[in-house]
Order: sequence, then structure tokens, then C-alpha cells
Amino acid sequence: RAKEMGKNRCVRFDASMNLAVVRRQAIEQALRAELEQGTGLALHYQPVFAANDQSMVGAEALLRWTHAELGSVSPLEAVSVAEDCGLIAPLGYWVMRTACRDAAQWKGGKSLRVAVNISARQLGDPQFLERVMDILREEGLPAHLLEIELTETVLMENMEAGAHTLHRLSQLGIHLAIDDFGTGYSSLAYLRQLPMRRLKIDRSFVKDLPGQEHSRAIVTAIVALAHSLGLQVTAEGVETQEQADYLVRQGCDVLQGYVFARPMPAPQFLALQASASA
Ligand code: C2E
Ligand code: MG
Ligand code: MG
Ligand code: MG
Repeated sequence: RAKEMGKNRCVRFDASMNLAVVRRQAIEQALRAELEQGTGLALHYQPVFAANDQSMVGAEALLRWTHAELGSVSPLEAVSVAEDCGLIAPLGYWVMRTACRDAAQWKGGKSLRVAVNISARQLGDPQFLERVMDILREEGLPAHLLEIELTETVLMENMEAGAHTLHRLSQLGIHLAIDDFGTGYSSLAYLRQLPMRRLKIDRSFVKDLPGQEHSRAIVTAIVALAHSLGLQVTAEGVETQEQADYLVRQGCDVLQGYVFARPMPAPQFLALQASASA
């Protein structure tokens, strides 16, 4: 009886394992084809706003991919597969180039900064610095209008090799931000050693504001820490006006979230700028 159950369980486990493996293989194949033909990949841009006057100060580039058979594949899944099967370099540089090319068109009277997410393997690429500089030059985007977002995990996995690259990027004028701040491993050492410009408070801490005491305490502490180190603070995942008001009162510098704007295709983002500056 027990043996039978064990066997059944084992079969079920294998079956779901296979499903996951099959899906990843399908994603790998589709991604490979996509990167050669370049049709289904897109970037959407989510505007970010200055807390003091609600003016738009830039946008975060977010990968979107809808495939005929696979449907829409989330950026986290696409990036994870790409990292495992050696496609992160072409995918990551496609994202970087597309974001810089689009942002070079964002004039609207004022300079808007584009934020690009970087995965662990990308930062580990010894060519990274050179490739980014080439892309900025070729696409005509000034370095100070590019912000690179790294999570604590990405920093942790690249502490030695990455530190040099990050210092050079910063010296060249590129802004560096820690994404999803507070959800990874202790970040205080990074804050002291790395030339960061911004902390992005993870949405999990914003979600229960202003009601939940612990979330309030964490947000207050992150803002105080950031400001005393001379860093700016962005709050992400702001979904209600009440959250926005609270975050402004706490001294957050930049706000991002569905209550202001959702990620949108590039042409729509351009249209938004035109209407904002009119
Ligand atoms: P992230 O960098 O923390 O990006 C913010 C995520 O929060 C985005 O999810 C965005 O759509 C979502 N978001 C923004 N405002 C709100 C809100 O008010 N409420 C809620 N519930 N969500 C909000 P998305 O686009 O699904 O991306 C998920 C993650 O995938 C990103 O998190 C980032 O870590 C990764 N990612 C996205 N694009 C890229 C990329 O081009 N390269 C790399 N390496 N990673 C990427
Ligand atoms: Mg991000
Ligand atoms: Mg984030
Ligand atoms: Mg996040």
C-alpha cells in the first residue's frame, strides 16, 4: 500500500517535472527564434513621477513577450530561461539597445531617464561595460539618462567582479539603483561600497500602507537610511492615492505604480509625454 502510494506520488512528481522541463525547452526554442527574427519581443514603459510636483521624470523599461503558442511569457520566466540556456546576452543587449533607442526620442522639453533591469549573468559579462557604452554612443543617449536597476541578489552574486564594473559605470555618468530593496540579503555592505544613486522600496512594503505598522516602520527606516547616505528613494507598486499621500509625507522622492500609470507600449508613452508637456 505504502509502496504503491509512494510510487504514485513519484509518478505525479515526475509528470509535473516533465511539464516544467518541456515548458522551459519550448520557451528556450521560441526565445532563440525570437532573438533571430525579433518580432514578438517588446518593451513597455512605466512612467515614474517626482513626489514633490507629480511631474514625470522617466520610465522603467519592462520586457513583454507574447508568443503564438506559449501565450504571454512573464519577464521573470523569460529572463530565467535565458540565463540558463545562454541567451541572456542577446536578450539583455536587445533590451538595453531598445530602451536606449526609445529613450533617445524622449524629448518633450525635458530630459527623461530610462531605467533598465539587469540580471546576474549580465553584470557578470566581462564585456558589459564596453557593450553598454557602445549602445549609448550608437543610439545617441547621454549616459546620465540611463539608470541601471540591480537587485540585491544580482549584487551578491557579482560582488567582486561586479564592483569594478559598477564603479566605472557610475564614473561614466550612468545612474545605479537597487531594485526590490529590502527583499534580498543584507544590503548594508553594498550601500557602503557601491556607488548607488537610488533605492527602490519593494512593492511588498508598500502594499499594506498606511494601515500596517510594520510596513510603516520599514518604509520610514529605508527613507531615513537612503537620505542619510545621499541616495534617492523610489516607492514601487503604489496602487492607491492613500499610499501615495503617505509616501510623499514620508519623504519618498519618486513614485511608481498603477495609481499613476501602468506599463505601456512605446508609442503610447510618447503620446503621454506630448500631452504632459502641452
Ligand atoms: P521590477 O523591476 O521590480 O518591476 C516592477 C514590476 O512591478 C513590473 O512587473 C511592473 O509591471 C509591476 N508593477 C508596477 N506598478 C505596480 C503596481 O502598482 N501594482 C502591482 N501589483 N505591480 C506593479 P513585470 O513587468 O511583470 O516585471 C517583473 C519583474 O521582471 C521586474 O520587476 C524585473 O525584476 C523583471 N524584468 C522585467 N523586465 C526585465 C528586463 O528587461 N530584464 C531583466 N533582467 N528583468 C526584467
Ligand atoms: Mg525594476
Ligand atoms: Mg522593482
Ligand atoms: Mg519588484
